[in-house]
Amino acid sequence: MKSKPYQSMSDVSRLPRQAFKFSLYVSRKYKRFAIPALIAVLLGMTLGISNTYVMKELVDALDMKDEAMWNYAMLYVGIFAISTICWRSSGFLGMHWHTNTRSESANVLYDYLSKHSSHYFSDRFAGSLATKVTNAANGVNHMLGKVLWDFLPTTLRLILSIGIAYLAKPLLALILGIWAVVFILINAFLVKKKAFLSKNSAEAYTRLKGQMVDILTNIRVVHQFARRPQEVVRVGSYVKNFKDKVIKSWTYSEFVLIFNNTLQVFLMATMMFLSLKLLQDGTLTIGEVVMMIQLSWGILDALLFIGNSMNHMMESYGEVQEALDIILHKHELVDQPNAKDLEVAHGAIKLENVSFSYEVGRPIFENFNLEIPAGQKVGLVGESGAGKSTLTQLLLRMYDVQKGRIYIDGQDIATHSMESLRRAISFVPQMSHLFHRSIRDNISYGDPETEEAEIVHAAQGARADEFIKGLSEGYDTLVGERGVKLSGGQAQRVSIARSMLKNAPILILDEATSSLDSESERMVQEALLELITDKTVIAIAHRLSTLLAMDRILVMEDGRIVEDGTHHELLELGGTYARLWKHQVGGFLIKA
Ligand code: ATP
Repeated sequence: MKSKPYQSMSDVSRLPRQAFKFSLYVSRKYKRFAIPALIAVLLGMTLGISNTYVMKELVDALDMKDEAMWNYAMLYVGIFAISTICWRSSGFLGMHWHTNTRSESANVLYDYLSKHSSHYFSDRFAGSLATKVTNAANGVNHMLGKVLWDFLPTTLRLILSIGIAYLAKPLLALILGIWAVVFILINAFLVKKKAFLSKNSAEAYTRLKGQMVDILTNIRVVHQFARRPQEVVRVGSYVKNFKDKVIKSWTYSEFVLIFNNTLQVFLMATMMFLSLKLLQDGTLTIGEVVMMIQLSWGILDALLFIGNSMNHMMESYGEVQEALDIILHKHELVDQPNAKDLEVAHGAIKLENVSFSYEVGRPIFENFNLEIPAGQKVGLVGESGAGKSTLTQLLLRMYDVQKGRIYIDGQDIATHSMESLRRAISFVPQMSHLFHRSIRDNISYGDPETEEAEIVHAAQGARADEFIKGLSEGYDTLVGERGVKLSGGQAQRVSIARSMLKNAPILILDEATSSLDSESERMVQEALLELITDKTVIAIAHRLSTLLAMDRILVMEDGRIVEDGTHHELLELGGTYARLWKHQVGGFLIKA
C-alpha cells in the first residue's frame, strides 16, 4: 500500500500532559476550520434567539390583528432559514476540524509511544496501549464536539436570553442571571469529582483490556494447561471491577442530575409566579409573559444542558487524562541534542567500566570491561541469567548504562543517534518477531525497496526459500500474528533472512539457530559463516558445538567474564567451558 508518509505537524517532545491543554495543542493547526465553525455556530445561535423576540412582536401583532404580522412572519421564516444554513456550515467545518484533530492526536501519541524504550513496553500490555491511543484521540474529538456544539451555543443562548429578558423586565433578568451564575459555579465544582471517577473507570477498563490481551496472547498455554474456565473467571473479576467503577461514576452523574432538576423546578415556579403577578399588575403584556416563559424555559433547558455536557465532557476528560498519564511518560532513552550518526566502518567494540542494573539494588554488570577487535567472531556462553542477552541489549542501546561507556569504532554510542547505531547492527534474537505481513515484507523489512532477487537470495542463504515456495502463496503468504502460521524453525529462518539482507558491519546472534533442527542449524550456520567473513560477530549459544568456528569464546558468570580464549585454550584450561563441553556430545561446523 503506497501512501504519503505521515508527517507530524506537532513537536511531539513538547506535548502537554494535561487533557484540555493537549486538546488545544493538537487542534491549533486546524484553526482554519475551527474559527469559521465557531463563528457559524455563534451566528446560528444568535439568529435563533433573536427569533424569540420576533415571535413576541408577532404574537402582539396577532393580538391586535395588525397587518404587520405578515412582515414578522416572513422575518421569522427568513431568520430561521439563515440560522439553519449557519448550523449546517458549522457541521461541515466542525467535521474537518474534529476529524483532523482526532487523526493528529492518534498520530502524535502513537509517534510518542513508539519512542519509549523496551523497558517501558516490558512493563505494559501492548494491546491496551493501542487502545489508549485511540481512546485519547476519540476523547479529544468528543471534548471538542462538546465545546463547539454544546457549551458555546448554549452559553450564548443563555447570555442572549437573559439580555432579551432584560429588555422586557430587568428584575426578572437579574433573577435569571444570578441563578445561571450560581448554577454554573455549583456544577463546575461538582464535575471535578466526576473527572476523578471517570479516570478510575478508564483505569479499570485498561486493566481489563490488559488481562484479556495477555490471556489471548498466551491462549495456547491456556488450552494446553486446561485453564480456560479459570481464565474466564479471572477476566470476569476484572469485568466486575470495571462495571463497579462505571456504576459509581454513573450514580454520581444521576445525583448531579437530580440536584440540577430540583433547581430547575424551583426556578420555573418562581418565574411563572412572578410573570403572572406582573401581568395582573399590568406591568407585562400577554406577549411579554409568553416571551418570559419561553425564555425561562430556554434558560432552564440551557442550564441543564450545560450541566449534562460538563458531566459527559468529564467522562472524556477522564479517559484522555488516563491515556496521557500512561503514554506521555518521559522517554527513557533519548538522543542527545544534535547527536551525530555513528560512522561504523570496521565494527570494533569496547565496553569500559560498564555498570548496569534493570532494578535498583540488583546489578547485572559492575565495572564490566570487554574489547572485541573489528572483524573478530566471539562466542558467548554461560549459564542462564549470566547476563549474555543483557550485554547485547546494551550494545543495541535498548537500555542506557548507568556507569561507563560503550564504544563502536572509537565512538561513544551514548552520544550518537540511536537509529544509526541500530543500522550498524544486525540482531537475530532467540525468538523470531514477525509482523502479520507477507513473508516478502518481513524479509525486506529493513529496506522495503529491496529487489526481489536479493530477497530470494537472502531466503536461500537462510535455507528458507524451499519451504516458502511450498506455501500456498509463496512469498506473498501472510505469516499470522507474530508468525504463528509458521513453525518455530521456519519463522526463525525468515528472521535470519531479514538480518542477512540488512548486511550490517556487526552481527549479534542470540541463540539464533537454537529453534532449528540439527540439519537446518548446520545449513543455516554455513550460510551465516559466508555472510560474516568480514564482520564483527557476537554469537550467544548454549549448544557449544555451534561456536567452534569462533575466533574467541567468552564464558560469563554473574555479569563477569570468567574465561576468555579459543575453544582449544579453554578446553586445556579445564574450567567451566571444558566441563560444559564434556557434557555435550559431538558437534558440527568443526572448522576450528
Ligand atoms: P539466558 O541464557 O537464559 O538467555 P542470559 O545470560 O542471557 O540468560 P539475561 O537475559 O541477560 O541472561 O538476564 C540477566 C539477568 O537480568 C537475569 O537475572 C534476569 O532476570 C534479569 N533481567 C533480564 N531482563 C530483565 C528485565 N527486562 N527486567 C528486569 N530484569 C531483567
